[in-house]
Amino acid sequence: MRRRDTLGEHVSNAELPSTIRKLLAEEGLEPDPPPERRIFTNRDLNLDRISLVGFDMDYTLAIYRQEEIERLSLLATIDKLIARGYPETLRDVDADPRFAIRGLMVDKRLGNVMKMDRHGYVGRAYHGRRLLSSEERKGIYRAQRLGQEKERFAPVDTLFELPEVTLFTEIVELIDNHPELWPSASPPGYPEAWQDVRQCIDESHRDGSIKDLIGQDPGRYIERDPDLGDTLHKLRSAGKKLFLLTNSFFPYTDTVLRYLLSGSSPSYADWTAYFDWMVVGSGKPGFFGDGRPFQELDRKGAMVGSPRQEVQRGKIYQGGNQLALQASFGVHPDEVLYVGDHIYGDIVRSKKSSGWRTALIVQELHHELAVRRAREMTLEEIEGLYVLRARIAAQVSGQRHLGRVLARLTVQTLMDRAGLSRERAEAQLERSRAEVRREVERLRAYEEETRQTLERRSQEIDEAFNPYWGSSFAERHDTSQFGSQVEYYACIYTSRVSNLRYVSPSKYFISPHGWMPHWRAR
Ligand code: IMP
Ligand code: MG
Repeated sequence: MRRRDTLGEHVSNAELPSTIRKLLAEEGLEPDPPPERRIFTNRDLNLDRISLVGFDMDYTLAIYRQEEIERLSLLATIDKLIARGYPETLRDVDADPRFAIRGLMVDKRLGNVMKMDRHGYVGRAYHGRRLLSSEERKGIYRAQRLGQEKERFAPVDTLFELPEVTLFTEIVELIDNHPELWPSASPPGYPEAWQDVRQCIDESHRDGSIKDLIGQDPGRYIERDPDLGDTLHKLRSAGKKLFLLTNSFFPYTDTVLRYLLSGSSPSYADWTAYFDWMVVGSGKPGFFGDGRPFQELDRKGAMVGSPRQEVQRGKIYQGGNQLALQASFGVHPDEVLYVGDHIYGDIVRSKKSSGWRTALIVQELHHELAVRRAREMTLEEIEGLYVLRARIAAQVSGQRHLGRVLARLTVQTLMDRAGLSRERAEAQLERSRAEVRREVERLRAYEEETRQTLERRSQEIDEAFNPYWGSSFAERHDTSQFGSQVEYYACIYTSRVSNLRYVSPSKYFISPHGWMPHWRAR
């Protein structure tokens, strides 16, 4: 039994007497969890200094069963699209749920979906379901750092948005290959198709076509994490105050949290007892910038009293704004940790405008870490192959430089400078040039072999992460744009809220700390 305790040092429980170990386990000091359940640190964070922990609900406290909720969102949205004149065949599309992942970017104008590296350059792109060749991709996107033109590009920031990507892709296929399916009119352009999908999904979220069905059978769509109640309780027992800040409105919040938390502990009468402050329908990201007032709700969700700029403990509010909430907390913003899943709405905006510390929930880490563990040796081999490729490239360019120098060198120069006879000068020059040519050829063959092995291994690994895109966190042996956003904006990140149960409430999370290329120059 080994555990990383409060200051990040390793405490070996195995060396302690069993009576003490049992006691520690009762105190929640359990053995290290598997990597999939660990918490990772980008920026040092001392939990001891955190007096308030806030939680987003959807995809944070509530873990959705992705395939089920996507199927539901697709069905609801397809009905609406068909009502707008889209072909009936949309019902038959057999979309692969693996195609859409978080962190992609949609080019609404050209009907493409792409994944970018941390510099904002396109690593791979699909038009419909067709992978663009590297020539096509470079022809369109080579010189662009994407994402600046808000009108043209749409980022895929949350798991709620995946069905949009799936549907858009299928519609691009239909527009390209079956325009005759729009009998009464010509098919829409790609930007209109995107807008139609966006509007129909938006409506489905608002008019109950998604939420009513989830409400009827929450267990089908939401995973009930047996450790969630315990985790919240552990934080509260350590003296921390908890708050809820969700964009979902009261009826849905009530349904979901009742399903997740009711009956998890006799000390809590209902889900509201876990939270000191509760804000629903918060309108993030606007919540972090606007000055909208809070509207108090009763326990049935009906409005009571008039809008105000302060909140009281134990009550439920709708709307509001971050500044007023912060003022009601009465603590410094850096004593607040906000836990959310939305890279922009929860994390970027709250970090930029609130000063709150941030924890990002990334469900995808589960799969990511499982693959990394299962393919550890291949990943190491790939690392080695990249180093090897760089060394060979350096040698090739050295030899080519030498070749150019030898090409310029004349027999006469050799005779003059080295005092050689013409025959010897000619022979030496010819031999040297031939040697360099042979060496370049040998290196080139080696380089090609390394390139091919690297290509094969990378494909194997990509296939294991995601056959269309590879890892969400990486692109071409570098961090992906999504990966770098996680790194830059989230102080800590983990796959689910209940992973906090494995750490002490006074844990000091220490980041590996960054370094720049020149720091290791010797
Ligand atoms: P949160 O993650 O707890 O803040 O809540 C997210 C809420 O936003 C959920 O109620 C979702 O149903 C809702 N939502 C997600 N996407 C859309 C959309 O496109 N339009 C309207 N509501 C959305
Ligand atoms: Mg959320």
